[in-house]
Amino acid sequence: MQNLEKTHSLQAADEKFLWHSMKGSAPGQANIVFTKGDGAWITDNDGNRYLDGMSGLWCVNVGYGRQELAEAAFKQLQQLAYVPLTQSHVPAIKLAEKLNEWLGDEYVIFFSNSGSEANEAAFKIARQYHQQTGGHNRYKFISRYRAYHGNTMGALAATGQAQRKFKYEPLGQGFLHVAPPDTYRNPDDASTLASAEEIDRVMTWEISDTIAGVIMEPIITGGGIIMPPEGYMARVKEICESHGALLICDEVICGFGRTGKPFGFMNYGVKPDIITMAKGITSAYLPLAATAVKREIYEAYAGEDTYDRFRHVNTFGGNPAACALALKNLEIYESENLIERSRILGERLLFELQELKNHPNVGDIRGKGLLAGIELVKDKQAKSPLEIEKVNKVIGFCKEKGLIIGKNGDTVAGYNNILTLAPPLSITDNDFDFIVRTVKECLFKL
Ligand code: PMP
Repeated sequence: MQNLEKTHSLQAADEKFLWHSMKGSAPGQANIVFTKGDGAWITDNDGNRYLDGMSGLWCVNVGYGRQELAEAAFKQLQQLAYVPLTQSHVPAIKLAEKLNEWLGDEYVIFFSNSGSEANEAAFKIARQYHQQTGGHNRYKFISRYRAYHGNTMGALAATGQAQRKFKYEPLGQGFLHVAPPDTYRNPDDASTLASAEEIDRVMTWEISDTIAGVIMEPIITGGGIIMPPEGYMARVKEICESHGALLICDEVICGFGRTGKPFGFMNYGVKPDIITMAKGITSAYLPLAATAVKREIYEAYAGEDTYDRFRHVNTFGGNPAACALALKNLEIYESENLIERSRILGERLLFELQELKNHPNVGDIRGKGLLAGIELVKDKQAKSPLEIEKVNKVIGFCKEKGLIIGKNGDTVAGYNNILTLAPPLSITDNDFDFIVRTVKECLFKL
């Protein structure tokens, strides 16, 4: 309990000067002010420690306090702080090369700073690609309800959560939505795969020649850990090909080992045309994002006319220090086998949580790698979502015991009842056991 006064004054200044995500201006509960991170743990200004079961916003994949990441950035900042990527520099070249190794195929990399920007770049690249290959009417994108793709006008338009959108409309034009699969409420294959067939139907009804592409996460994360049914992604890719549309895979959360593979799509045997990534690329130590584009698409930008180039300049994208840090970060995943660790611990997590199936309010437990959702219900038969106050109560109990967990879903769709776990992939066995034990304990206190 050191620093108590200082904490109060920090919180007063925080209340006065900082505009936080998801927070209004009415004074509410004071924010916890964090000052230190180490491994999976973060410590507040008063010395209280919390295990970060969400890796921040699903991003601090290698854990906190990595000196080697700080050093990689420091060294690069001393040597060469900045070159725009209208030119080139060594860390960006090396990182693009390394990402190709991870992607296992030939992709050309466009760097930016956030997941939203990576998706914006993907939409523009796809539209221009069609323009330059004869698909002059292809401008529409299809995405799924309940998915989140970012906060900018295009990425938000692709987002399928109305509560995040309706006060900012009109957004980017030409975005259509279909229902996501729901393997929990419609467990049989025929009905879950029907959600892939719906994409086919929308493409036909909208006229194939107007469709630029589909954007999807391999597993819908923010919308409540919605798992694709067997064969879903492969079927979507087939549908895209048959209509001449591109498949854009949003790997902002699923990438970099979160699902137990280097990228989420690798669980489902597809090769997307465009892949967007952020968060885990630097484990959030510095901002960086990337849009990986199949070489064939890039080759449509070969025209002599300057208007045939990708006229999208990004001042900070591919910042040398961020790229140098990302390279070191990828080295950590590799040298510590963190992708495989995520896969193995993910299986263990689902296994250990099975005991919760006996809990009257646990409807479903699902996930892949170190990405898991526990869907809380009022009634197991009806699968009706548990009241938000009770969901929040569990989260509060966990916090009291020093564990941060997430809550995700979609308030408009009526599902805000999915507890989420996405701890650092580097989590120790002891810390992993602490998560399992605490989640169980807190749920049984309900
Ligand atoms: N796509 C997905 C799947 C995301 O979860 C997010 C952010 N949580 C984004 C895109 C946007 O990323 P950013 O916040 O870095 O703009």
